[in-house]
Amino acid sequence: MKLTVWTYEGPPHVGAMRVATAMDGVHYVLHAPQGDTYADLVFTMIERLGKRPPVTYTTFQARDLGADTANLFKTATREACDRFRPDAIIVGASCTAELLQDDPGGLARTLGLPVPVIPLELPSYQRKENWGASETFYQLVRAMCQAEVAPPRADRAGRPVCNILGPTALGFRHRDDVAEVRGLLASLGIAVNVTAPQGARPTDLARLPEADFNVVLYPEIAAVAARWLERSFGQPFTRTVPIGVGATRDFIREVAALAGVDPTPALDDEHSRLPWYSRSVDSTYLTGKRVFVFGDATHAIAAARIAREELGFEVVGLGTYSREFAREVREAAGQLGLEALITDDYLEVEACIADLQPELVLGTQMERHIAKRFRIPCAVISAPVHVQDFPARRSPQMGWEGSNVIFDCWVHPLTMGLEEHLLTMFREDHEFHDAAGPSHLQSEQPRESKPAVAPVSDLAWSGEAETELAKVPFFVRGKARRNTERFARDRGLSVITLETLYDAKAHFGR
Ligand code: SF4
Repeated sequence: MKLTVWTYEGPPHVGAMRVATAMDGVHYVLHAPQGDTYADLVFTMIERLGKRPPVTYTTFQARDLGADTANLFKTATREACDRFRPDAIIVGASCTAELLQDDPGGLARTLGLPVPVIPLELPSYQRKENWGASETFYQLVRAMCQAEVAPPRADRAGRPVCNILGPTALGFRHRDDVAEVRGLLASLGIAVNVTAPQGARPTDLARLPEADFNVVLYPEIAAVAARWLERSFGQPFTRTVPIGVGATRDFIREVAALAGVDPTPALDDEHSRLPWYSRSVDSTYLTGKRVFVFGDATHAIAAARIAREELGFEVVGLGTYSREFAREVREAAGQLGLEALITDDYLEVEACIADLQPELVLGTQMERHIAKRFRIPCAVISAPVHVQDFPARRSPQMGWEGSNVIFDCWVHPLTMGLEEHLLTMFREDHEFHDAAGPSHLQSEQPRESKPAVAPVSDLAWSGEAETELAKVPFFVRGKARRNTERFARDRGLSVITLETLYDAKAHFGR
């Protein structure tokens, strides 16, 4: 284990909370010390939920450690059951409480509670948040689905029926993706039996086997449960995640085949502006742009496909922090002739971006920060989520509308750069010179412009040269840096001065 100031995923019990919070009628009793209750804030401040997550913490303190922490857990569980009257309780331990080895599952069983108790074994020191969410959902599904039930396989109108699996609380646009996918299914004449975990009660999970097949929106969370449902009830599940126009078309075909319906009307109903916009005037700014992609596996793989096939970008780097899905990301990277970056160390990602010098970064909030320091445009494509990922308006990633949202989010940072370009051209003007504040804020005092942090390189750049480089429009800045460094290396220089920069410019301009 190593200390870090930032992490792509929380500990696995945060994943369990995401499932419990998404559902109704589930309560989570977490054996955890005072201080671990910070998780409440994550849901109320980031997702802006109007209610606290359904979690009771034992909140033991240092002085309790020599005493009976097991009894504290039993009391907390009994009281939570009496107070919240859930349909089911899940119990587990946080990272710190795991070290006490109090066995929350065994303790809860001795209480004889009147509702199902599902113990969670979430090894905090080996696994992370998405794995925790996946395991929690799987355990809940297993506990609530009775294998001996022989379910009817269609709704009353004779339509095919499916479940939607995967959306949780604190998910990257999950709320809006579900609405989009429901629309796609409706256009195919397919009814939705249960959506879970989001919005489901434990009794709804017991009805999962009644559907003909499962739609898995987020494999990181729902693939394990879907595989178990396939083994236990013969329910097939979807492999395509409908992010992007091409993937949405593939998804419609896959779902139509599973349901035995004609995909044509849904395919004809395509109403994404992405294909035309990306072929029209905007393509001037898109074609051949060098893009670096990093995120969870589902969103990173989808983004790489959209970038290459739908926007004409060149993907120069692809990676994920989802170690459980490293194989899938390696495969996707291999098809692009790349080696995937599999890491949960953001400093490694930063070094990779510095090395590749892309013109656009598609990543998480962390890559947004990295790109900002390097002055590279960036769009956020994946969790970890930020308060901005829960906008008041709808903002899906999936389906036709999702591809419109993606087009806007990815292309605006590039077109904003054109305004930056104009500002560069007019930088000697009194209103736009480097020391001027924002021109629309008359009260703004002049401020110092800070040069961007230089990407990692074996060559040193003088402050003057770095400042001059920062004036080059962003969409050619990476190339200017690479050319200058090549020029310096060829001449055995270890420091790039203003003069080197101009010499290189003259050399390559010939
Ligand atoms: S010990 Fe675990 S639960 Fe507690 S603050 Fe650290 S990561 Fe969070």
